[in-house]
Order: sequence, then C-alpha cells, then structure tokens
Amino acid sequence: MNAEDFKNEEYWVEIKKKIQRESNVSDITYHLWFEHLEFHELSGDTVYIKTEKDDERALGYLNNKFKLYFETVIGEELGRIISVVFLLSNAEHTPAQAQIPEENRIDNDTLNPDYTFESFVVGKNNMMAHQVSVAVAEDPGKTWNPLYIYGGPGLGKTHLMHSIGHFIINKDPSKKVIYVTGSDFTNDVIESLRSGNSVASMSKLREKYRSVDVLMIDDIQFIIGKESTQEEFFHTFNTLHDAGKQIIIASDRNFKEFKTLDERYVSRFAWGMVVDITPPDYETRSAILKNYAEKINLKISEEIIDYVASNMKSNVRELEGSLKKIQGYIKLFNIKEPDLEIAKEALKDYIYPSESNKITFDRIVDVVCQECNISKEAILSNKRTAEIVYPRHIIMYLAYDMLGITYKQIAEYLKRSDHTTVLSACNKIAEDINSNKSGKNTREKVESIKKILTGALNE
Ligand code: ADP
Ligand code: MG
Repeated sequence: MNAEDFKNEEYWVEIKKKIQRESNVSDITYHLWFEHLEFHELSGDTVYIKTEKDDERALGYLNNKFKLYFETVIGEELGRIISVVFLLSNAEHTPAQAQIPEENRIDNDTLNPDYTFESFVVGKNNMMAHQVSVAVAEDPGKTWNPLYIYGGPGLGKTHLMHSIGHFIINKDPSKKVIYVTGSDFTNDVIESLRSGNSVASMSKLREKYRSVDVLMIDDIQFIIGKESTQEEFFHTFNTLHDAGKQIIIASDRNFKEFKTLDERYVSRFAWGMVVDITPPDYETRSAILKNYAEKINLKISEEIIDYVASNMKSNVRELEGSLKKIQGYIKLFNIKEPDLEIAKEALKDYIYPSESNKITFDRIVDVVCQECNISKEAILSNKRTAEIVYPRHIIMYLAYDMLGITYKQIAEYLKRSDHTTVLSACNKIAEDINSNKSGKNTREKVESIKKILTGALNE
C-alpha cells in the first residue's frame, strides 16, 4: 500500500469502516465524524487527514477519541508505524496539535490518558462520586463548586479527576485545566518564596494558578498544616471561585477530619459538593477485574476472577496489581491460559486465604494449646489449676480481639455459664500485656500466637 492507494475513494472508505469497527462506534457517529474525512497527504511517517469542519473543538475530539485507531489501522495497512494529523478544512498543512494553545496541551499531558469516564467502572461504592463528576465535567463552574472527593487509597479519586479533565478539554480544547497534587502545589509555593525576586516569582505563581478555568488539587492533605501554602491556596481558591471557575479537590479524608484546618476553609469546602468513595463490593470488584484483564490482554477464567474478587477487598490498585502479577507469572513460565492453581501460585504472596488459615475459634484453641503445650480437653474441662487457667484466658482474649465476637459467645464456645469470667479474663490479659505483672511475658506470647494465626510466619 502507498499514498496513491489512499486516494482511491473506495479503498479509503473501506479503511474508515474498519476504523469504525475497531473503535466500536455507531453508524451515527460514523456519519457525523468519519464520513467527511478525506485522506490529504502522506508525508514521511505522518498521514494528514482533512475534515470538513473549521472548528478547533472538532480537532480536539478527533484527536482524543479516534487518533489512535486511525494510526493503528492505517499503520497496519502501510506496514509501519505512522502518526496521524487531522487538519481543519481551511488548513493548508498545519499539524493539528499546533492549533490547540500550547499551554493547555502541556497541562493535558499531566493527565493519564487511561483515566477516563469510559474506563471507570461504576458501582454502589462510587456511584454518587461518578455522577457528580460527570455533572461537573459537563458544566464546569456551574453545578457544584468546589467538588470535594474523598476516600481511601486506590479507590479511584485520581482516576475520576483526570476523567473530568479529559472530558472538559475534549469538549473545548481552549479550556485551561490544571491538575496538581498537594505536594506539587506546596513545592511551587516554596520555590517562589525561596527565589530571590520573590515579588516576580509570586506573581508568576499566581498567574499559573489563578488564570485557569479548572483547578484540580489531588491529595490536598499534603498542604494542610503548611501555613504559607495553605494561605496561598486559600487566596487562589477565592479568586477562582469568585470568577466562577471550577475547583476540584481530592483527599484521603473528609476535610472535617483535618484538625488544624481553620473555619475559613471548612465553610468554603462546604459550599460545594462533598462525595466519598468507599471500597467496591464483590460485583464491582469482578467488573473492574474483567475490564482490566481485557485492557492488558490477559485471558483468565471466571473462576480466577472470582478467586481474586473474593480475596482482595480493600483497594482497586491491588486488584489491578494482582492481574499484572498473574500476567507476569504466565509470561515467565510461558503458560497460555492459567488455571486457578496457577493463579493461586502467582498470588501466593498477596493472598493466603486457604481454609486452614482462616481464623476461627477452633483454630485459636488449637494454636494456643500447641504453643502452651496443653491438651484441648484440659482447656474445655472445669479444672482451675494455674497452668490451665492462663492459656484459657489467652484464648478468651484472642477470640475477643481477633474474631470480634461477644463475651457471651466466647463463654458459650468454652461451655461456661457465666460471661463475666470472660470479661475479667480479657481485662487481665490486656493488663498483663501492658505491665507484664505476672512475669510471663504475655505480650510476646500473644504476639507470636497472633502471627501464627494470621499466617505472617509463613511469609
Ligand atoms: P486514588 O487516587 O483514590 O488513590 P486511583 O484513582 O489512583 O486511586 O486508582 C488506582 C487504580 O485503580 C488506577 O489504576 C485506577 O485506574 C483504578 N481504578 C480505581 N477505581 C476504578 C474504577 N471504578 N474503575 C476502573 N478502574 C479503577
Ligand atoms: Mg490518587
């Protein structure tokens, strides 16, 4: 294939149809976006494609949504790697990107291209955060301002923020979007305070942050308690908010939990919308895993998805990490389709849920008996000699501490009628852990039994 072939209308339509299939877009989208696209020129490794539109926003959309598909499909036809440049109808030869203001493109580069609304799996845990993010992205500065998203690590806060950024820039490439972390912002403030000509550098800093349409600050916890940074942020916030510019903040906790945050912020953060993201439930975990497996081209069975989703619960980053781990493992051993055993082996340092390791009352009794060299019968008997009472108390303490069950349930397990004995036994052990009054090194004993129970010794 060469440039001449692309000029053949039939062939060109065939290529566009192929791109439509690859990118999985509807006929309507095809009609709106692909039909009028003309092959313009092949120059070196760049293919220029002309649109009939003269609106820069169209370029932004084409670049963000379809460029990669065009490059892949045309590249395959040509048998080499090429890049695609879309041109406006009135353009001569200007590469498309140059038409998006330079500064905006730099900011766009700080956004991870993988973090989009399309790749974000919505579940009960993040539904509200997702909905609000979409609304803010569609109408920045108009709906909820500021938007404050909080939640534990690896739950998708950064992913959502970047999605908002992409959405806004795709829709209108002239929008100036800045994404920084709390520590980037702190460094910028420190840098400008330190530099000799601090008036000039301060105004440069202000220009950077106060001239934007959308300011996103991720992990804001890093600026809390840092006085000058906090103050600078406060003024930036006010300037932008007064001008109707969108502010989006993410953090690992609700701002109400920042003890040193003064009233001025608390009231301002409360002006907008505060949403949290919680850990995903089983269904959402499975959906995330399936999506991610597809993304990294990993073929795995439902059984493995179920195994990972059932055992990794707290964090999406870990879910993704475990699939990467499986992929690395099967590449290393040249395995085509991993079965459950292989997945378990690949993840053995991450997951140790084998039934025998699950902490139950019986396991606590077994391990304590073994470690204290005493029989189970003795523990369950009514004997009250010191060498039996002490391990019995440790069992009660561990059951309360590790199983989260009540004193009454513990009494029932041990076939005692009175649960107040359990209560006082737990107190006694807790006290001895702190003081070692008995001289029996209870703390060390309890810790080593706990390690056996949690499997930490097998690592
Ligand atoms: P946080 O900022 O809350 O610590 P991130 O946004 O960095 O978390 O998410 C960690 C990883 O998990 C990223 O790779 C992200 O793409 C992925 N992730 C998190 N939530 C989702 C989700 N709902 N759907 C798809 N991927 C997700
Ligand atoms: Mg983050």
